[in-house]
Amino acid sequence: MFSFHPAARSVLLVAICLLMSTTATLADEAFEDPWRLDPIASPDFQSVDLVLDPGQREYTGSTRIEMTLHEDSDRFQLQAFEMDIDGVTIAGQAGQFELTVEEGEEALQTLIAPQVLPAGTYVLSIDFHNDYDIRATSLYKVTAEDEDYLFTQFEATDARGAFPCFDEPQYKIEWQIALTVPAGDIALSNTPVEETSTVDGMQRTLFMRTRPMPSYLIALAVGPFELVEVEGTSIPTRIVTPKGKAHMAAEAARNTPPVLAALEDYFGRPYPYRKLDLVAVPEFLPGAMENVGLITYRDTILLLDPENVTVAQKRTLSSVNAHEIAHQWYGNLVTMEWWDDLWLNESFATWMGHKITNEVFPEFNLKVTSVRGTEGAKDSDTSAATEAIRAPVMSNSVFESMDASITYMKGEAVLAMFENFVGEENFREGVRNYINKHEWGSATGGDLLDDLSESTGVDFHTAMGTFLDQPGVPDVSVTPLGDGKVELSQTRFSFIDQDLPQEQPWQIPVVLKYSDGKQVREHRTLLTGPSEIIELPDGANPEWIHPNSEEMGYYRWEVDPAQLMEMIAISVDEFSPRERVALVSQVSAQLRAGRINGGDYLAMSTALMQDPHPEVLNTALGNLGEVRQAFVTPELMPAFRSWVRQNVGPAVELYGLTPGEDEAEGVSLLRPSLIAWMGNWGEDPEVRLFARQVADSYLQDPDLVDASIAGACLRVAAIDGDWKLYNAYKKAFEAATVPAERSRYLAGLGRFAKPAMQDAALALALSGDLRPQELFTIPMGVGMHSWEQPDRMWTWFVANYDRIIELMPPQFKTYMPFFAGGCEEERLVAAREFFAIEEHQAPGQDRIMERVSEGVIECADLRRREGPTVEEFLLDQSSR
Ligand SMILES: [Zn+2]
Repeated sequence: MFSFHPAARSVLLVAICLLMSTTATLADEAFEDPWRLDPIASPDFQSVDLVLDPGQREYTGSTRIEMTLHEDSDRFQLQAFEMDIDGVTIAGQAGQFELTVEEGEEALQTLIAPQVLPAGTYVLSIDFHNDYDIRATSLYKVTAEDEDYLFTQFEATDARGAFPCFDEPQYKIEWQIALTVPAGDIALSNTPVEETSTVDGMQRTLFMRTRPMPSYLIALAVGPFELVEVEGTSIPTRIVTPKGKAHMAAEAARNTPPVLAALEDYFGRPYPYRKLDLVAVPEFLPGAMENVGLITYRDTILLLDPENVTVAQKRTLSSVNAHEIAHQWYGNLVTMEWWDDLWLNESFATWMGHKITNEVFPEFNLKVTSVRGTEGAKDSDTSAATEAIRAPVMSNSVFESMDASITYMKGEAVLAMFENFVGEENFREGVRNYINKHEWGSATGGDLLDDLSESTGVDFHTAMGTFLDQPGVPDVSVTPLGDGKVELSQTRFSFIDQDLPQEQPWQIPVVLKYSDGKQVREHRTLLTGPSEIIELPDGANPEWIHPNSEEMGYYRWEVDPAQLMEMIAISVDEFSPRERVALVSQVSAQLRAGRINGGDYLAMSTALMQDPHPEVLNTALGNLGEVRQAFVTPELMPAFRSWVRQNVGPAVELYGLTPGEDEAEGVSLLRPSLIAWMGNWGEDPEVRLFARQVADSYLQDPDLVDASIAGACLRVAAIDGDWKLYNAYKKAFEAATVPAERSRYLAGLGRFAKPAMQDAALALALSGDLRPQELFTIPMGVGMHSWEQPDRMWTWFVANYDRIIELMPPQFKTYMPFFAGGCEEERLVAAREFFAIEEHQAPGQDRIMERVSEGVIECADLRRREGPTVEEFLLDQSSR
């Protein structure tokens, strides 16, 4: 699954609408807990036959499960969630019996026979009927542009909401699906069609039997789809779009063949299944989901306006596509035995998604930008509430509140660090051996580490284990001792005033980059103890040392502040863009650790903002959002505004407000941030006027505007916008047929400054007319804009709580404490009281509350501690 993740505390609210969480029913010790199936019975094969009319509210189905009863028993379990079971029979050597159903906790159903059944094989048949879900979970209904569709999203535990099954990942069996749908609709599933027939005026499609797969990877789609054939792949491949959208599939059709080919090359074996369909889904909670042979995507990712596609859109499509297709081997062909190895799936797919995109489309510069994800993970991982990558999944609450930045981004960074250390080819050999050894079956993280150890000669269990099994970020300090000797030592990185437990030392692949005065060299070592003195091979006293070459190591590093300032001074000449992007975050981490003060931080940030690589400035702007949130009071706003103009203005001059011909991709990616910063916080009249002109043109005809600046301009134009503009956005939002246009107008609607328009936009958010993944876009926009009233969104949230709960997918409830995020301690007190009330609670919410509290307290402390130095710096700057 591709999950958007919360990057930093200043955007905590983002998590609400973007982070995909899953409902789960899990436990620590396999088979000894109340959430998991009793292993007395297991499935061998399952067929599912559903009658699905998207025009109706409910459906009927039957399923037939060939199963083994491992001991004599009169009862066994499977899972079915909130459906009506109409009849259950079992047939085997002892005859045929009706079973009764005893409903238990967590969708566990105990099926009870009238007598003890001897161990052996049986055929279980169940008839049932059920309502479609309408909030993008399990088997759900979507009405888009007056057409009805059905889609599924089963990971982790929602297959049981569509049909009864053994809904745990270790049960990899063959399946056969049959769907009976209205004539004229298209039915799709994981495999190609075996045969079609007509039943009572409807069309029945029997799909080919699958290869072994777990229930969470089953997918179904029904509706008036359009199909676009993709040329140049090893198996039949199609892009599947809702009615009237086929023309927006061109970019996906172009992107898929080279990505698929690069993955086949990496794994050294062809795509494992018989076909590949990529489906655009209008209502979808995660970014995308890797169902076997039928990958589903949020429509905004897959369907792009062929006339006006941006670099950012192409890059997202490519890395999400590579992530999901990589899962076809890694996760699907070989599946984790249990959810505590979810990192195996997601770290690997995230790493592969970036690696393959970077290989196939180097122009997207993902090697440089992906380090921002790693830096964000380091911030999350410094929280006292962080968890190890490989954490036991003990209950649904653990799963609900899983931190995607750890499971996805930290996991990716750790894989990349070790790959870099042992060499790409050795690492790949281990991965290939792992896939070949466990094909069609299940495996654990330990199995992968076995194969990597064998192919590389490095003990991965011990070395990588120190990163997988303990939380936190190592901090490596580097002290030159003279005569080519350098002392390295490690502790756990912490922000000031944190008292984090120190566990065992990490085994850190440290790669130093240094200059001996003649040339730049690298020195590699595995730092295994608390400290170690190494000797640089040439014995020279280096002119400078970068403690983390190419920032490939998952660690923070420490040098003294004067040395850090010197590193910034030589960064453009000596360091790579990737190292400079990470330097921006390193500086921010030093502020939070209390090693530099607010004034130093802004001075260093100002210096880094002069970097000629657009991605460095883009990263610096991202971090400044945190400065604004923590420090900028209404009184300080004029000084902050002038500082923004001084430092962002030159880049606007240099790159221009409109895209140039053949400009570098990085510049196109930076420009929207420049417009947003100058328009919002720089309050630059020229940029605001420009944004308004662009917004007017876009409203007239979106093709008149370069899509890369459209979103930023719509948001900036809204700040001074009147009712006429508001109503124009709303009308255009409702009429939009291109997914990105719809998103841009929606985001714009949340940015009007006048309170009455904000009220109207917030009412729209609760009108019931938005899609589940769109619910929080407007509140987020209003929250960012109404910075003079930091409690505004919290007040709105509390006042409208019942309506919000009614509209949003139930699994979002876990994340509601994010509404209390920010820097206000009083609000935190109110939030603690609010979420202490039993009916406001949800599984995993305590952990989210803990993270939010920590962020608020840290921000408030930072404000108290560094507010005066920041103020002094800004006032001094603006008086010049
Ligand atoms: Zn994934």
